[in-house]
Amino acid sequence: MSSNSFTAPKGTYDLIPPESETVLAVREALAAPLRRAGYGYIEPPVFEDVRLFARGVGESTDIVSKEMYTLTTKGGDELALRPESTASVLRAVLQSNLHRQGSLPVKVWYSGSQYRYERPQAGRYRQFWQVGAEAVGAEDPALDAELITLAADAYRSLGLNDFRVLLNSLGDRTCRPVYRTALQEFLRGLDLDEDTRRRIDINPLRVLDDKREAVQAQLTGAPMLADYLCEDCKAYHEQVRTLLTAAGVEFTDDPKLVRGLDYYTRTTFEFVYDGLGAQSAVGGGGRYDGLSEMIGGPALPSVGWALGVDRTVLALKAEGVELSAPARVDVYAVPMGEQARGVLFEAVTALRREGLSADLSFGGRGVKGAMKAADRSGARYAVVVGDRDLVDGVAQLKDLQSGDQTPVALDALVTTLKEKLK
Ligand code: ATP
Ligand code: MG
Repeated sequence: MSSNSFTAPKGTYDLIPPESETVLAVREALAAPLRRAGYGYIEPPVFEDVRLFARGVGESTDIVSKEMYTLTTKGGDELALRPESTASVLRAVLQSNLHRQGSLPVKVWYSGSQYRYERPQAGRYRQFWQVGAEAVGAEDPALDAELITLAADAYRSLGLNDFRVLLNSLGDRTCRPVYRTALQEFLRGLDLDEDTRRRIDINPLRVLDDKREAVQAQLTGAPMLADYLCEDCKAYHEQVRTLLTAAGVEFTDDPKLVRGLDYYTRTTFEFVYDGLGAQSAVGGGGRYDGLSEMIGGPALPSVGWALGVDRTVLALKAEGVELSAPARVDVYAVPMGEQARGVLFEAVTALRREGLSADLSFGGRGVKGAMKAADRSGARYAVVVGDRDLVDGVAQLKDLQSGDQTPVALDALVTTLKEKLK
């Protein structure tokens, strides 16, 4: 790379046309079911006090301990680019007192970039996008089932069908500690490296999630959380399962499913697309009943999810879904000469104000190049104006599908095109 050229930072990529249209369409499609279910849009800042994530996501998690982009401002504030948005959203809800202003739950959705200092690879980036939803302040299995159903419907609306829903319950403050101790006892008897041994003390459930064969092989016979769930958690989970079945959402019980954040309780789920190799999780979420108190708020049992936009796009490609067509215009104007440019600039502006989409050939291109650009633009009509046309007070209207060309009076151009494109 020469000193005067730049490339996007490692682990990031540019969204450029025409693929960027797909990304916009995916974000919209993932959000659409939420809007139909009463979720309101929320947008917290991209950076927050670093302690919000340390406390909310958990100091012992990879996300906080290894992957966070932190910075000190000129004023001395310690900030972090958000590695995820649940903690930010809850902070925003608490700060604005949304949870006191109406009935609970507060249902919100967001769409935005997240930042994690990870090893870049296909499907794993340092800046990536999520569409997320949070339902704050209610403990109701129907809410958990609603969110899982909305995500499944969102994927299907895009034409993605080969995904699986993995479901588990992580218990609550009554039963999880008992299980945690039992698991720790089991894990301490295994042959594990030092890093993993440390994890046994801090976050033993994460060891179950270890991807290494040598570790997985030793985990057969490990105590399973499902056997330790208290009656309340069991009944709650059973209701979630029943509601999902009634909604026609297929799921797989995965007793080993844990997630990389500390705040999850009870319902935990992940959306997996198997065609994506190691980066197969296209989305995930769960219940986080203790998070509000962890960041200084009142008890607000909540549930939410975050769907990865980048990986959803990859999954759609893997499934062979033809994604939205690139942006195209209705009309492409080709001026020949300066005076014609002025006339067509006006015409294009008028067409746009009438709600049609129109583009103009810029840069004084020759007519051949300009007509090629007209074809590429996907326009139905090209409008060509030269000096002779100006004398006659007409524009040549060319139907780019049939090739037919007819002169149209300049002062009738906008109404004629509006009529033809209706
Ligand atoms: P993974 O197991 O792949 O590391 P995660 O558990 O860290 O995922 P979450 O924090 O649950 O992921 O985020 C929800 C979704 O966001 C993931 O299912 C995934 O689709 C997406 N995601 C997470 N990290 C990245 C990343 N670095 N690049 C692209 N997408 C990501
Ligand atoms: Mg991760």
